[in-house]
Amino acid sequence: MTLIIDLAPDNFNDVINASAEIIKNGGTVVFPTETVYGLGADALSSEACAKIFRAKERPIDNPLIVHVSNFEMVKQVAEISDDLLKKMKNIWPGPLTLLLKKKDIVPDIVTSNMDTVCVRFPDNKIALALIEKAGPIAAPSANIATKPSIVDSADAIREFDGRVDAIINAGRVKYGVESTILDVTVHPFELLRPGAFTLEDIEELLGEVHVGSVAGGYSESSIALTPGMKYRHYAPSKKLILIENNQKFREFIQSDLSADFVALCSMENAQYAKYDSLILGNDIYEVAHNLFYYFRMLDSSNKKFGVIQSFSEKGIGFGVMNRIRKASYLILKDKENIDKINNVLNEYR
Ligand code: AMP
Ligand code: MG
Repeated sequence: MTLIIDLAPDNFNDVINASAEIIKNGGTVVFPTETVYGLGADALSSEACAKIFRAKERPIDNPLIVHVSNFEMVKQVAEISDDLLKKMKNIWPGPLTLLLKKKDIVPDIVTSNMDTVCVRFPDNKIALALIEKAGPIAAPSANIATKPSIVDSADAIREFDGRVDAIINAGRVKYGVESTILDVTVHPFELLRPGAFTLEDIEELLGEVHVGSVAGGYSESSIALTPGMKYRHYAPSKKLILIENNQKFREFIQSDLSADFVALCSMENAQYAKYDSLILGNDIYEVAHNLFYYFRMLDSSNKKFGVIQSFSEKGIGFGVMNRIRKASYLILKDKENIDKINNVLNEYR
């Protein structure tokens, strides 16, 4: 039985008390953060955290993020230098997750037996009040493994009713892409995942960052018209095609080749669409906000495939493009012809 806890204008404290009680008793709660919904449990209890892996069908070797609500709690779970802690006072609460050396108090299941732990101090009133009351909460994104992250509580209820102890029904989140993950155990610091906190802001506040190959979102198997199944994440169930060249994207959505497709694009590009389109937004924050929401709308549409344009990789666009590439079954770059898309997809028609 899953308790659906509705958030109303006058019941904030009741929502927090009921949810915190469940966490303290070893249960699981789906709660909002400023990035996406999280699936939380007591970070200091192995048994409670095991429930997260079961509810998500998450492989046990994919570690969880520990969420805290104050700077003392950071030091309770991880080693952090005074210098970095001071700098983080200008950043936290916010959507930047740090990879730090873990303290023994954090159970091995949370970190998949590694000696590092990801720590995040979210900028969301509900999340902060819940953690303050219940203690550190381990929480990956609240979605079944490999599916898109959840940005709206209606989707959380559809996906997790019957799988968790409670879901806080609090509507849409602010950003829509997950937190940025930065490894601060190495020098220079290394970006492990681009996300809602921009690389530009990290470099301004914390200094130079090394951006590894993982950050762009390409994988060997998903470049240029090669099915990228193996590395797909955050993906809709329907096959998504990314056309990186905007001229070719417009050509494709204007043509009959796109009859089986929903086009996910800017308002400007939507004018060219001959068939169905979903307007992601006019600026990159709107695109981030709508991306995972529209992946799920694509899945419930009556079209077979999705096609998506690319966006500038400045600011949050870096995280957005990383998610789009990881979600894409095919990526069409500059050189290939758009009619090849249909050749590759014919077997799925
Ligand atoms: P999610 O909250 O679902 O976005 O998942 C948490 C992310 O943090 C996953 O991509 C994990 O691989 C990553 N993560 C958590 N802990 C660690 C760790 N100790 N080392 C490397 N990555 C981690
Ligand atoms: Mg996730």
